[in-house]
Amino acid sequence: MANGSNPLKCVIIGSGPAGYTAAVYAARANMDPVLFTGQEPGGQLMITTDVENYPGYPEGVLGPQMMEDFKKQAERFGTDIRGEMIAKVDFNGNPHKIWTEGGDELNAHTVIIATGASAKWLGLESEQRLMNKGVSACAVCDGFFFRGMEVAVVGGGDTAAEEASYLAKLCPKVHLLIRRDEMRASKIMQQRVFNNKNIEIHWNTNAVEILGKDEVEGVEVVNNKTGEKEIIPVKGFFAAIGHKPNTDIFKGFLDMDETGYLVTQAGSSKTNVEGVFASGDAQDKVYRQAVTAAGTGCMAALDAERYLVEKGIV
Ligand code: NAP
Repeated sequence: MANGSNPLKCVIIGSGPAGYTAAVYAARANMDPVLFTGQEPGGQLMITTDVENYPGYPEGVLGPQMMEDFKKQAERFGTDIRGEMIAKVDFNGNPHKIWTEGGDELNAHTVIIATGASAKWLGLESEQRLMNKGVSACAVCDGFFFRGMEVAVVGGGDTAAEEASYLAKLCPKVHLLIRRDEMRASKIMQQRVFNNKNIEIHWNTNAVEILGKDEVEGVEVVNNKTGEKEIIPVKGFFAAIGHKPNTDIFKGFLDMDETGYLVTQAGSSKTNVEGVFASGDAQDKVYRQAVTAAGTGCMAALDAERYLVEKGIV
């Protein structure tokens, strides 16, 4: 294991599409990348079933299988993949310092952040039990499976408005469950929702339980003003109450927006710290697709390689 006297050329933190793509490019550029998988190896795709919108898989692919393929490709070029979590970083000096959860300290000339984001969930027991059996947090990934069926979406922000609008193209009725009497979403997104005849808004409404044994059959809701309960028969239940980027350990070192997304320089993966590059959902709250994450992972590896060349390290 490298130590202070022998900095690594490139450390990649995270093992979703961004991390593994960065690893493929970095390994092929002789950067000897060391990739830390983190707590959820494979990232968000590990909780997805069929992926049908990733180019190159004409028949579709299961999310976990796709991530296994990504991993194999990164390994083929010699990426050192370690099933550990990074607990702490120090980006004040050069090289950069990184500590694993086990307490090992590593130094690295370049760090590629690909720690992703996690969907927020309501926290219902039924939500966990019916995950991937009708419960989802991604309409673009899973909406297709519910075409022609009624679905529910929870949330009143831009994500919920976007998810509901997307689903309304596939589903005859989308029940949008909003806990207040107004939406947080931008006016234009709200208008789009209000004008969509396939979207029915349930104001002041909380989801109490998702119903169904082996698959979603409905959602029990309560009006938090009147206390009135209702069962809405739906086949799909989409949580759209936001995502949380996994960037807590970078606080104080890297520029982030008010919700924790890392800020990169336009048209690049560069952060405010030299030699530290950000990719994937940790820096993207707009697109959040496997293919865009992979694209920015590629950008980060190319930016890191250029940095190493400029510094005369490779
Ligand atoms: P958000 O703006 O934080 O909205 C979250 C929504 O979920 C709010 O309506 C919130 O209700 C509701 N919510 C939170 N916890 C809940 C719970 N436990 N039960 C029921 N409802 C709950 O998150 P977001 O919509 O993901 O957007 C995040 C950021 O990304 C925003 O800045 C947004 O503009 C941006 N974004 C942009 C685009 C785009 O430009 N195309 C697309 C998506 C997201 P309250 O309002 O009552 O708190």
